[in-house]
Amino acid sequence: MNELIEKAKILHQLSKDEIVSVLKDNSLNDELFKAADEIRKEFKGDEVHLRALIEFSNICRRNCFYCGVRAANKNIDRYRLTPDEIINLADNALKTGYRTIVLQSAEDMYFTAEILAGIIKEIKKNDTAVTLSIGERSYEEYKILKDAGADRFLLRIETTDKDLYKKLHPDMSFENRIKCLKNLKELGYETGTGCLVGLPEQTVESLADDILFFKELDADMIGLGPLIPHKDTPLKDAASDGFWLSLKVMALTRLLMPDINIPATTAMETLRQDGRILALQSGANVVMPNVTDEFHKNKYEIYPGKKSVDYTKLEEKLKQINRTISKDKGFR
Ligand code: SAH
Repeated sequence: MNELIEKAKILHQLSKDEIVSVLKDNSLNDELFKAADEIRKEFKGDEVHLRALIEFSNICRRNCFYCGVRAANKNIDRYRLTPDEIINLADNALKTGYRTIVLQSAEDMYFTAEILAGIIKEIKKNDTAVTLSIGERSYEEYKILKDAGADRFLLRIETTDKDLYKKLHPDMSFENRIKCLKNLKELGYETGTGCLVGLPEQTVESLADDILFFKELDADMIGLGPLIPHKDTPLKDAASDGFWLSLKVMALTRLLMPDINIPATTAMETLRQDGRILALQSGANVVMPNVTDEFHKNKYEIYPGKKSVDYTKLEEKLKQINRTISKDKGFR
């Protein structure tokens, strides 16, 4: 075996230079994916955790350069689900068998911490975990949501290259994003972060920094995937060839953080039909099927061609690769 992959497998530790050299050497890919699959099996077993994703608003105050729901995009129908609609979608998902509800939205300030807390409390009357993915808020707001019963929070750092972060996120601050992640950790959330792979000007060196950042933060979950250019954004002409590189970043993350949760992301399946399965065989142990109703799902177009998958089909596909759906909440 390649000595760096072997070292990562045993020590779960690599230097930046070592990560860079694995990322650059595509002749190692098969070995890398296999090693990540073995570590996933050893630390997390063959159960796959399903998280039901509800995209409850696409109304956004931000202008992230890659994202289709950015405020400046006028070619989009904006929507906001009502608390009752959100609670109903969650109830249906729980009846189907999901044990985690993920509430995701654009940065829609209509949803105050108090309104969200009411929704969380209602959903938490059931035996379920609740994950939030609603962007940046103050410590106090995160605390209200935690006290209401939220268990987990996803907030990708997107990139640890500060200059690139600044270019892609006008009016946002890299320091504040880090502070949000630290606050979430401090408040006791299972905290997820992650990055986009294949951004213009992004280097493998900065991807290595991303991986080391995940480790330093001691993130509980890492979600990452390739950039998929959206026609109504400043990155419309960017390349969309980040599939293999994101699989490599994901596999390396598994080797260095053996016990965390890692989703096979929708962006991976969007670029390749077998993308989700390949990810599950290269370190991932989580899938987040979209349970938003068809009408609104299509309007939450952060990138085009978002592929969805339902519970029954997934069960079938997982069986084919000798994996089962977990019946528990799947904490780290
Ligand atoms: N507003 C929330 C949720 C964002 S959507 C937040 O800020 O956390 C979830 C993720 O989708 C983002 O973190 C981003 O990494 C990803 N995403 C956005 N646009 C994308 C694109 N064009 N291609 C691939 N992934 C994208």
